[in-house]
Amino acid sequence: MTDSVVIVGGGHIGIACAHYLQQDGRDVTVVDQGEIGGACSRANCGFIVPSHVLPLTTPDAPAQGIQSIFQPRAAFRVKPQLRGSLIRWMWEFGRRCTHTRMMEASGTLRSLLDASASQYRELLRNPELECDWQENGMLFVFRTSKALDDFARTDTLLTSEYGLSASLIDGADLQDFEPALLDDLAGAYFYEDDSHLRPDRLNAAWTKLLETRGVRFIEQCRVEAIEKSNGRISRLQTSQGDLSADHYVFAAGAWSSSLAASLECEIPVEPGKGYSVTMTNPDTMPTHPMLMPEKHIGVTPFDDGLRIASMMEFAGFDSSIPPFRIEQLQDSAKPFLKNPTGPVIEDTWYGWRPMTWDSLPIIGRTADLSNALLATGHNMLGLSLAPVTGKAIADLVAERPTDIPLDAVAPTRFS
Ligand SMILES: Cc1cc2nc3c(=O)[nH]c(=O)nc-3n(C[C@H](O)[C@H](O)[C@H](O)COP(=O)(O)OP(=O)(O)OC[C@H]3O[C@@H](n4cnc5c(N)ncnc54)[C@H](O)[C@@H]3O)c2cc1C
Repeated sequence: MTDSVVIVGGGHIGIACAHYLQQDGRDVTVVDQGEIGGACSRANCGFIVPSHVLPLTTPDAPAQGIQSIFQPRAAFRVKPQLRGSLIRWMWEFGRRCTHTRMMEASGTLRSLLDASASQYRELLRNPELECDWQENGMLFVFRTSKALDDFARTDTLLTSEYGLSASLIDGADLQDFEPALLDDLAGAYFYEDDSHLRPDRLNAAWTKLLETRGVRFIEQCRVEAIEKSNGRISRLQTSQGDLSADHYVFAAGAWSSSLAASLECEIPVEPGKGYSVTMTNPDTMPTHPMLMPEKHIGVTPFDDGLRIASMMEFAGFDSSIPPFRIEQLQDSAKPFLKNPTGPVIEDTWYGWRPMTWDSLPIIGRTADLSNALLATGHNMLGLSLAPVTGKAIADLVAERPTDIPLDAVAPTRFS
C-alpha cells in the first residue's frame, strides 16, 4: 500500500516537498491556512542565488541591529519590544556573529545552494513549469568606490574559500553591460551562475503540474491541533476536519514556532518582514537582476514587470504596508537606475521570512515524534533552497542516504 504524507504549508518549501514525495510514489496532500503560494513565497525577488553563501550572522550584524533601534527607517530594523522569544532569538543570533561561526554556516549553505541550483536546472527544463526563468546571472552594483572596494574583500573570501568567482566590471564599462544603469557608478561584480524567475508563476505552474500527478492541495485549511499516541502523530485537527497520514511534513514558514509545543521540540523561527513593489515596465528595462548592497535592495526584471524588494524588520506578525516603505524602495533605486519606476504600480507586498538564529534552515525529523518532519527556517533563501529541501525530505521519508549535510540543519541541533 502507498504511504501517505500530509504537508502543512503550501509555500515554495511545501510545494517542493510535495514534488519529490510524489515522485517517490507517495500519496500527498498539502494543506494551507491561506492560499497556496500566498504568503512569503508570492512576491519575493525571485533570485536563485548560489552566490549567497554568506549567512546573516556576520561579525558586523549586531552593531547594525543596535543602530537600527534608533532609525525607524533603516532597512534592517529590530522594533523595540519586550517579547521573551524575540529577546532570546536576538541573543542566540548575536552569539553566532563570529568569523568562525559565519564560515561554518557558509560551508553548509554552499553545499545546499549548489545542489538546489542543479536541481532547478533539471526541473525547469520542463515547459510545464514556465515561470520567466532566466539564467543570466546577477549584478552586485556599487555607487561609490569605497563600497566597491569593501566588497572586493568579500569577493576574495568567496573566491578563496568557495571558488565562487565573479567578474569585476568597471564603472566605465557598466552601461555597455547593463544599459539600464546610470553612467556615474563605481562598478559591479557579476555572478554568472545565479538565475531568477517569477515566484508566483512558479508556484502556480508547479501546483498545476502536481495536481495532474495526483497531489491534493487544500486551501483555507488551518491545522489547529496535533493528536499523538505512542511517539507518533496520529491525526491533525484542521479547520476543515481531521486528517491522518503515515508521515507529516511541517513547512509552515514564519508560523513554525507556534507548532513547537505540539511537536515537542524547539523551533526558533521569527518572522523577518520584507516588502516589494512590482511595476509595469519602465522605459529602460534592466536586462539583469541586480542587488544594490549600499541601499540593501534587489531589483528583478520579469517578462512583464519590474520588482524592487528589500527590508528586514523584526516586528512580530505586523501585517501593515506603510506607504513610506514603498516610497523608500523606489527612492533607493534612483541613484542606480535610469528609470527606477514603471508607469503603474501593479502590486505592493510584504512577506514574513522564516528566520532562524543560526541563518540555517531546519530540515529533518523531530526527536520525539517518529513520523514528523520539519522543513522550515529558510531565512532569505527559501526559493533558492526549495528543491534541495524537498529532495532531502523525500530521502528521509524513504530512509535513503542523502548527499547534503543533514546534521548541520537537523531540528535536533537546538535540543
Ligand atoms: C522581500 C523578500 C525578498 C525575498 N527574495 C528572495 C529571493 O530572491 N530568493 C530566495 O531564495 N528567497 C527570497 N526570499 C525568502 C523567501 O521568500 C522565503 O524564504 C520563502 O518564501 C519561505 O517559504 P516557505 O514555504 O517556508 O514559507 P511561506 O511561503 O510563508 O509558506 C508557509 C505557509 O504555511 C502556511 N501555514 C502556516 N501555519 C499553518 C497552519 N497552522 N495550518 C496550515 N497552514 C499553515 C502559511 O499560510 C503559508 O502559506 C525573500 C523574502 C522576502 C520577504
